[in-house]
Amino acid sequence: MMTRDSLDRLHFTGTVWRPPHEAYSVLLQATTGCTHHACKFCGLYGDLRFRVSPMTEIEADLRIIARWQPRARRVFLVGANPFALGFDRLVRLADRIRDYLPKVQTIGMFSRVDDIARKSDAELRELRTYGFTGLSIGTETGDDPTLRRMNKRTTAAEIIAQSQRLDAAGIEYYFTYMAGLAGAGNGQRAARATAEVFNCTHPYLIGLVSLTVFPDTVLAREVQTGEFREAGELERLDEVRTLLERLEIATTIAGQTVSNTVPLFGRLPEDRARLLRELDDARSRFSERELVRYRRGIDYL
Ligand code: SF4
Repeated sequence: MMTRDSLDRLHFTGTVWRPPHEAYSVLLQATTGCTHHACKFCGLYGDLRFRVSPMTEIEADLRIIARWQPRARRVFLVGANPFALGFDRLVRLADRIRDYLPKVQTIGMFSRVDDIARKSDAELRELRTYGFTGLSIGTETGDDPTLRRMNKRTTAAEIIAQSQRLDAAGIEYYFTYMAGLAGAGNGQRAARATAEVFNCTHPYLIGLVSLTVFPDTVLAREVQTGEFREAGELERLDEVRTLLERLEIATTIAGQTVSNTVPLFGRLPEDRARLLRELDDARSRFSERELVRYRRGIDYL
């Protein structure tokens, strides 16, 4: 007889992260950890080393998922950047997913910018035909000094170039913008630079988050030594305001995570005036102290 354990224990390792907009997707572990694992602000994957899930594990999970969600339409591959997997591996994965979940239409995942760069235009086009679309790219900023300082190992020019290759292949993508990442006094520069970069791309959605420094990160040590000065909370609201004012693309703005002191959600350009009003309203209602107290109360993302 089947026990509960044999029925529904999936191979998840460590904390499972997925973007808010993937709340209704089936989660499947294809990789563990991050190939880069060196951004100064990031503690998402702890000490986990990058690992590719063996196909036996993936098939075992798919058997379980097929039992519970046989009509699943979208799969989100978890792991910091499963798009680092090579073309052949991704195609095999798509085939296996459809063996067990024949109604799946699309497959999404997190991706680094350099994961896209390693694939040819023809491979990207073919991956789209296999259903790969909706890549969540943790861009964080389009400001080169900040990207360098945070050891993101990507540049504004690469963000633009790889996004445009995704556009050409018909692969949809989502960005993040992290307010406060440039440090105290640099928010306006970061917002202006990012708007310029994002205006050359077509993200379906931009997820707004705000830097929260957690103790187990390189950045926390830099805060302690004074190498990094955190941006004030009101400065961050002004930073987001500048970004929203300057974005000229049609996109969805989704800033509803625990890291956002002021939740924001809407479409650009049509909701711009309302979003700016909400920021102005928050700025007049809350003091720096109140917002700092809120951030200090954040234990987990
Ligand atoms: S922010 Fe993303 S790319 Fe950077 S270390 Fe964390 S998971 Fe990896």
